[in-house]
Amino acid sequence: MAEKNEKPRTIHTVLRVPFEMALGPTWTRFFEGLREKKILGTKCKECGRILVPARPFCPRCFEPMEEWVEVAQEGTIITWSYVNYTYFGVTADMIPIVPTRIKLDGVDGGWGGRIGGFDIKDFDLVNKKVKVGARVKAVWSGERHGHLRDIEYWEIIE
Ligand SMILES: [Zn+2]
Repeated sequence: MAEKNEKPRTIHTVLRVPFEMALGPTWTRFFEGLREKKILGTKCKECGRILVPARPFCPRCFEPMEEWVEVAQEGTIITWSYVNYTYFGVTADMIPIVPTRIKLDGVDGGWGGRIGGFDIKDFDLVNKKVKVGARVKAVWSGERHGHLRDIEYWEIIE
């Protein structure tokens, strides 16, 4: 029995909770677009913003976003980082990775992804090539499943 004011005894464990998330009509259409190598956004009739991933309503105006737009597959790096350590969900065989946020041409807001297409184990090379403002284009997976990973990586274009 624990004494009063004594820290309760704990054990360290990891819980894994697999689940299925219902996508709804907007995200279903968005993800099916990825399967077809299309990046789809929705446009707000009130403020004119185009958001990717597609949204059912504008989070600024609260208006329905019913106009679908196929957007550019090129954009500009907003920010990036270099991950060379493991953490939950990222195992040693997955690193290093270069996560990035990209502003797709004509789209408002950022889109997440990872940089690839060259030896990203060479940090000096990464640091030389990957810059805020650098241009990138989507490189699609050979086999697509209607998933964010259908874009295998973003390639730096000069
Ligand atoms: Zn709006």
